[in-house]
Amino acid sequence: MEADSKAIRNPNCRTWLRQEPRTTFSTPDRENVRQFLSYNTFFYSQKLSAIPQPDFDKPTISYHSTQQAAMGSDQYKMDGHKLLWHLERVQQWQEKRVIAPIYIEVSPLAYCNNRCIFCAIDFSMEKSLALDASRFIPKLAQMGKAGVRSIMYAGEGEPLLHRELVPIILETKKAGIDVALTTNGNLGSSDDWQAILPALSWVRFSVDAGTDEVYSVVHGVSGEMFHRTIQNIRQAVQFKRDNELSVTIGAQFVVLEENVDDLAEAVALFSEIGVDYLAIKPYSLHPQMLATKEVDYRNGLMDRVASILKTCTPSEKSPTRIIFRQDAMENYADGKMAFDHCLALPFWGYVDSRGDFYTCSVFLGDPRFKVGNVLEQEMEAVLFGEKRENSIQFGEKRLALTEECRLNCRMARINEFLTMIDQKPEGGVFFID
Ligand code: SF4
Repeated sequence: MEADSKAIRNPNCRTWLRQEPRTTFSTPDRENVRQFLSYNTFFYSQKLSAIPQPDFDKPTISYHSTQQAAMGSDQYKMDGHKLLWHLERVQQWQEKRVIAPIYIEVSPLAYCNNRCIFCAIDFSMEKSLALDASRFIPKLAQMGKAGVRSIMYAGEGEPLLHRELVPIILETKKAGIDVALTTNGNLGSSDDWQAILPALSWVRFSVDAGTDEVYSVVHGVSGEMFHRTIQNIRQAVQFKRDNELSVTIGAQFVVLEENVDDLAEAVALFSEIGVDYLAIKPYSLHPQMLATKEVDYRNGLMDRVASILKTCTPSEKSPTRIIFRQDAMENYADGKMAFDHCLALPFWGYVDSRGDFYTCSVFLGDPRFKVGNVLEQEMEAVLFGEKRENSIQFGEKRLALTEECRLNCRMARINEFLTMIDQKPEGGVFFID
């Protein structure tokens, strides 16, 4: 497979577009999968040794393939994964199989003030169900001690509706755990940003529109909410700048038929605000969703995104990177999985608003994945108990991925990587070329 790639300047957009061979595989046979994995491993290993990166002259639009993610143009590794920075944990997993998760997603509460038409967790909403902060906060130190390295507050509802989100975030940071927040941004005052932005590694705003009209259709609320959200994002960006904070502030745009024509407006708006990135990503069907949608990215939708992005002209001064997650969209459209079993469950977890710990967020309410309760049990018992071990084994040996799992789920790239290193090549590993 060709390994070289070229960066060319798009004369219309002041952008660098990477032109290189696609690395997604469109046929399911194992040989292709193996080639794909070993090819990417080559790039990952180069990345690890910090090879000099091409000078992209501050690219404003990136078309991401997994290869690019490995090469460094996707500085957030949105289409890749970050396990290569945790090789000691990977080694522990190879030896023990049950390890402390590196990353946990926590749902502060189970209701939302928006009604997004693409919401993946509409099935789990429950009015007035909120995580008990007084019982949750003491468990954070136990999580940090066990080896949990990061927590993202997101989950079944809108986290900023939780009255004690600020102390929860600050206590998470104090426990030695990196913290992130995903929010619709309808709420969030200057005071909130002042309190939490210094503690956050990143915050991502789900906006999915560039105008109030389209926002109203996609988020199911009045257009007024769009203006409030934009105002809140502006305040957050300003506070970050004024205080020279390292927090990454991003916005997200899930592409649908209903909003694709708003994309150019969104690019212009978020570039002008100066968020660190605008991520353009595919819709993803959740097996338990109530309001499911058919979104066919092969049917011209992906091409429309590409052609809109080619004609846009972000401001010269804007620091905003526009990240088109083309690989994720193609993988979703292809509908294929490059692995037979789920090996990712030891590396992450999900805590719902009741405090129940799941080994995968796709299976909320499913006893095969619910392994304890962080409010009622010590973390040692939840993370290293028999139930989690059984669930991890179930994912590894018996789960019928193609029938039950979310297509191109968030652990897909991790599963590809772990599948590769779990299958020792025949003939030995000492001939390393
Ligand atoms: S492959 Fe299935 S079980 Fe594993 S993380 Fe993805 S959705 Fe969850």
